[in-house]
Amino acid sequence: MQIKNAIKIRRRHFFEHFIKIKSLSENIKIMVKKVFPEVTQRLFYRVFVCRVCKHKMRADPAKVREGKVKCRYCGSRALRPKRRPMV
Ligand SMILES: [Zn+2]
Repeated sequence: MQIKNAIKIRRRHFFEHFIKIKSLSENIKIMVKKVFPEVTQRLFYRVFVCRVCKHKMRADPAKVREGKVKCRYCGSRALRPKRRPMV
């Protein structure tokens, strides 16, 4: 009997937690939606992130693909495009 109750309580906690996360993610979605397209363009267009030191830099995608762009801070050529949050 006690075990069953414990499971019930745990399940309720889990659902509360889940709902909290859901509302939080919806808030973030609203925040992203409010952002103007010019702003997303400025923040993400041609912006790359160093895989070693996580510094951001703006560069030409073609040059990055050819490996001509080096990280300004650590000299690494391992770059990835900055991920765009889903709207
Ligand atoms: Zn770096």
